[in-house]
Amino acid sequence: MVQQISACLGRIETLSVDAIVNAANSSLLGGGGVDGAIHRAAGPDLVHECRLLGGCKTGQAKITSGYRLPAKFIVHTVGPVWRGGNAGEPDALASCYRQSLQIAADKGAVSVAFPSISTGIYGYPIEQAAPLAIATVLESLPQLPTVCEVCFCCFTETDLEIYQRELSRVQGSAA
Ligand code: ADP
Repeated sequence: MVQQISACLGRIETLSVDAIVNAANSSLLGGGGVDGAIHRAAGPDLVHECRLLGGCKTGQAKITSGYRLPAKFIVHTVGPVWRGGNAGEPDALASCYRQSLQIAADKGAVSVAFPSISTGIYGYPIEQAAPLAIATVLESLPQLPTVCEVCFCCFTETDLEIYQRELSRVQGSAA
């Protein structure tokens, strides 16, 4: 089966995919940035389901229904806070992408969209986060053959350029 990875510009809460990923905090009860946007768009039932999940550790992922979103599911993952790069941030960030894809695939998601986890309020430099995100998804997909489409949903033109540059670099030889 063909598996496609791409980057797009937009608000992730508007995407019609099977699962969108939320860059949540460990309480899973909502916050700023993409988390706030997802909770506002999904409606109040989302926080009720999130309360039952008992939080989430850094690098892990939990899944809920999408409620009022076009997406069927929301995968909530907690990225690492950037502390300079030697505090396990790359491993934790890679784990977010791996676990999110796995849990989405377990629910039968064929299309999954990711935001740029940790690169907002949590301060992870996007020049380092984007290549790691792409490499981790590329490594994970062969084990998840039912996932056909992964999109990196970028919030700014600058972020989109960084993702597109990296995607062309890694896919250049395969294209
Ligand atoms: P974190 O706390 O993990 O850093 P943020 O929500 O602050 O999470 O930022 C993660 C990324 O999501 C940033 O690149 C930010 O620009 C982006 N972002 C913010 N709102 C949205 C949205 N509605 N859709 C997609 N990406 C968004």
